[in-house]
Amino acid sequence: MDKIDIEKIRNDFPILKKKINDEKLIYLDNAATVQMPKEVLTACDTFYHDAYSNVHRSSHTLAIKATQIYETVRKKVQKFINAADTSEIIFTSGCTASLNLVALSWGESFISAGDEIVITAMEHHSNLIPWQQLALRKKAKLKFIELTPDGRLDMNDAAQKITSKTKLVAAVHVSNVLGVINPIKKLASLAHKVGAIMVVDGAQAVGHIPIDVQQLEADFYAFSGHKMLAPTGVGVLYGRKYLLEKMTPVMYGGEMIEHVSRFTSSWAEIPFKFEAGTPNIAGVRGLGAAIDYLNKISFQTITEYEQELTDCALNALKKITALTIYGPLTSKERLPIFSFNLDKIHAHDLATILDAEGVEVRAGHHCAEPLMTDLGVIATVRASFYIYNTEKDIDILVEAIEKAKDFFN
Ligand code: PLP
Repeated sequence: MDKIDIEKIRNDFPILKKKINDEKLIYLDNAATVQMPKEVLTACDTFYHDAYSNVHRSSHTLAIKATQIYETVRKKVQKFINAADTSEIIFTSGCTASLNLVALSWGESFISAGDEIVITAMEHHSNLIPWQQLALRKKAKLKFIELTPDGRLDMNDAAQKITSKTKLVAAVHVSNVLGVINPIKKLASLAHKVGAIMVVDGAQAVGHIPIDVQQLEADFYAFSGHKMLAPTGVGVLYGRKYLLEKMTPVMYGGEMIEHVSRFTSSWAEIPFKFEAGTPNIAGVRGLGAAIDYLNKISFQTITEYEQELTDCALNALKKITALTIYGPLTSKERLPIFSFNLDKIHAHDLATILDAEGVEVRAGHHCAEPLMTDLGVIATVRASFYIYNTEKDIDILVEAIEKAKDFFN
């Protein structure tokens, strides 16, 4: 394996040279949005300078170039997640839009009164509310797979909750609060045994671990560009071809049609029937550059380095007295996303003190209010790491937490 060249990587991210409150920027809010390398910024900029035009419409040279760029990225995404076919890759505005698309299209057509939808107790609101509202509309039952005391999915509970009435199982691949990596393939096989489909929220997994949707046996897999080095406003929904073909569009307008008359319309083939209107073409170009960047480093190198960061951060955080860490305290099957609270100090107060030291973390419920309730808290501070973070960043975080402790005592 190539050892990660961390200095070279850090040089690729211009924003990391910034000062925050006169302190060196220590960016630890990667679970919210990761920074973009020069390659991605340049790719978007070049698109605007050299090929800016619409896709799949006009037949002039610029439009052909834009369409080629757009469809090349679709192919790149297909390879990146090992989908069987490019028609299984739908560009959306992000993970939230992708999950809502499944709920509004597949869910609306195939969920009926009395059916069961099974999700987990650690879902982001994006993979909870679409199913909650679908269940309410359809008079279906929403069930939750509970967590073990150390914050992993209780697979015994999963086996109990997934029954012959289950039509859909939805789970987050990596929790944005607990950092835990869920056993998606095992959940998918429980789902498939009873004829249910498996929907995966991959927002925190893509860009950190290699994704193979066929190996995971996912029927739908959703993710966002901005959590994997690409710009905001672009995301992907992967769906198995035979499922997408059976589904109806949820957005209507330009480009998603085959034929329109005054009173009837027919739809384009997949994936286009799900891509109404002008897409975020520059964002898609950036997504392609992000994939190239990640492949250049290689996932073996990335996962190995994130494992080192996880070990190091866990060891350091565990030593801080009065710090409660939520989620697994061993580095097995988890990523470097750490949620914690310091004594009785409000999460927002702690985050404000850290910000004054240049340490950018997130405080709040992390769009996972039901999980916060289960954990018995209103909010946590979350420090989340990515490939450009270093062990020095962990030291600075720990020093800043210790400083905050002294300040409040
Ligand atoms: N799912 C998880 C686990 C997330 O962490 C997020 C974003 O934080 C989302 C879904 C929603 O992603 P987006 O806001 O990019 O649609």
